[in-house]
Amino acid sequence: MALTLREMRLNCDKARQRMNEARDEHWAFGAFNLDDEATLKAVLQAARVKQAPVLVEVSQGEVDDIGLDVVRDMVDNLKRQYGVEVYINLDHSPSVEAAKLGIEAGFEFIHIDVSQANHNASDDDIISATKKVVNYAKLTGALVESEPHYFGGSSNLHNETIDYDEIKKTFSSPDHAKYFVESTGIDTFAAAIGNLHGKYPVPKILDLELLKSIRQTIDCAISLHGGSDTPGHYFRDAVLIGVSKVNINSDMRYAYRTTLEKTLMENKDEYSVAKLITKFIIPVVQSVVESKIDDLNSVGKAKP
Ligand SMILES: [Zn+2]
Repeated sequence: MALTLREMRLNCDKARQRMNEARDEHWAFGAFNLDDEATLKAVLQAARVKQAPVLVEVSQGEVDDIGLDVVRDMVDNLKRQYGVEVYINLDHSPSVEAAKLGIEAGFEFIHIDVSQANHNASDDDIISATKKVVNYAKLTGALVESEPHYFGGSSNLHNETIDYDEIKKTFSSPDHAKYFVESTGIDTFAAAIGNLHGKYPVPKILDLELLKSIRQTIDCAISLHGGSDTPGHYFRDAVLIGVSKVNINSDMRYAYRTTLEKTLMENKDEYSVAKLITKFIIPVVQSVVESKIDDLNSVGKAKP
């Protein structure tokens, strides 16, 4: 059932307050991508076991597949059933129009990323689109997240190693971050400090000194995308420095697919794949989510 505008505003108010608390108390929301109902259950079961507040998020691909209202309803139904604290993030929304639909569907977090759709978008294009979304988000009070330029990688398994010299060219600079935050009025700045979408043959290296200078230079919340395959100690340090949201996708997708392949091979007589998913896949994806919750220090922080 669709939320009323009043309910949306209450949810967004609480989400905003909780992001502030996360920063003050040195923990972060894991923002876990959902591909289907099974991944949603895995995330929310982990949230229940760990008593942790979480975000679930969908990118445009899942929005096209599932639909904004269906996502909102599924999350609200399971939120009630499990008694967990959960909010929804529209992840990498490619246009102002798409972001507006997410706001109207009552998503508490909106990430506007026009450079994902057009890697050559100019600074002015990005700032102008972001400002429009910040302005429209006043309808519900949704928190708006953005970054000043294209953020690399994709949520998949990559065979290439990471060229750190190339990646460094895309790092956030504290001064530009400050300019971007002040020009747009965003609530959350998506920092690029060595984090990268996807899983790679080598672990990621985060520049925590750079993160500290960004934290000292801007006042809004900071998020990290591309959290998969990142050694946990980086997250534990990042939340101490003041990161409040970390996006995780590829580690869950990898666990889902590899476990599903193995399970199908081992259960050739079972034609209810959904049963196999419930029994074998959800627990494995759930354990991935639980370990991220541990690293983000959000265990026991839920206020459902
Ligand atoms: Zn991302």
